[in-house]
Amino acid sequence: MSDRVCNFSPGPAVLPVPVLEQAQRELVALPGLGISALEISHRSKWFEGVLAETKALLTELLAIPAGYSIVFLQGGSNLQFSMIPMNFLRGTGKPADYVVSGTWGQKAVQEAQKEGPANVAWDGKADNYSRLPNAGEPKLTPDAAYVHITSNETIQGVQFQADPAFGSSPLVCDASSEFLSRPVNVAQYGMIYACAQKNAGIAGVTVCILRNDFLERVPADLPTMLDFKAMVKNDSLYNTPPVFAIYITNLICKWLQSEVGGLTKMAERNREKARLLYEAVDSGFYRGHAQPACRSQMNVTFRLPSEELEKAFVKQAEKHQLYELKGHRSVGGIRASIYNAMPLEGVKTLRSFMDEFRKRNG
Ligand code: PMP
Repeated sequence: MSDRVCNFSPGPAVLPVPVLEQAQRELVALPGLGISALEISHRSKWFEGVLAETKALLTELLAIPAGYSIVFLQGGSNLQFSMIPMNFLRGTGKPADYVVSGTWGQKAVQEAQKEGPANVAWDGKADNYSRLPNAGEPKLTPDAAYVHITSNETIQGVQFQADPAFGSSPLVCDASSEFLSRPVNVAQYGMIYACAQKNAGIAGVTVCILRNDFLERVPADLPTMLDFKAMVKNDSLYNTPPVFAIYITNLICKWLQSEVGGLTKMAERNREKARLLYEAVDSGFYRGHAQPACRSQMNVTFRLPSEELEKAFVKQAEKHQLYELKGHRSVGGIRASIYNAMPLEGVKTLRSFMDEFRKRNG
């Protein structure tokens, strides 16, 4: 493993080495089965076990209360931007409210508007998506079909610091880039969804956690593949699910539980990693994008005094085995994605490089 570099990619992102090693060991033949996870039937006893165990592990890690269902879908979080309004907005005669806190929130509301009335209840554009609203700021519709939020904006690097409360309509949360990074009060949500390729596994599977009474609102005439109720009824097995991707999510959950010790421990580690980088951002020369009260613990975004210096930073970082630090073109600058599997050592190496770069160029 010595030839691995520090991968700060926003997703697909770094995976825990023990997970990669187990997947490697089992790649040609699963123990006792002689078939690999890439080849085995989704109707096999083995996969039945993986599916049930992954749901049980997620339930335990997130302390999901009774009355919720978990499904594993394809199409990424982008499909959810359409599937959610198809299932929960269409035909309700009510609007849905969207809190737009960055690029992903924008995409979510744009897709919803194709399905029905979707209001922008709050938009952080005036502040270049550098902050999040307080509880009273969004203009909420009384009795909205639902309120949609993005708990962590991957591109801008803003994150709700705690589960937000916005009115009494069901809260629907795109948690893609912070899922499993800290404990969540699931009972506060009608639905939480996350594509796996950041904290929960590899591209190809999206985890959806839905409150069962919210599911009752799904209209009867949806195409089956886009119908949450049908997906729940068939336990994610209506069609062939992404077997290998779900197996990796299973290994990640086990890693979180047995090697990390759960989400409270994971959150402590993540806080410390983020602290190390924001401390460097705050010591002059660098300029953080997110306002301090809304800073993401997953995606640390900052600028340098000039674009030339930003280019030099990215290039020189690679000499220290620090990769994928270029910010998204819409924000510019630098973005260090430090998801669960990014080790503290990797963050320390980046911190030293930031200090050294500032001394040389500041
Ligand atoms: N929402 C958020 C917050 C994201 O970070 C991403 C992916 N970067 C998406 C949605 C879209 O996910 P996918 O590419 O799996 O459709």
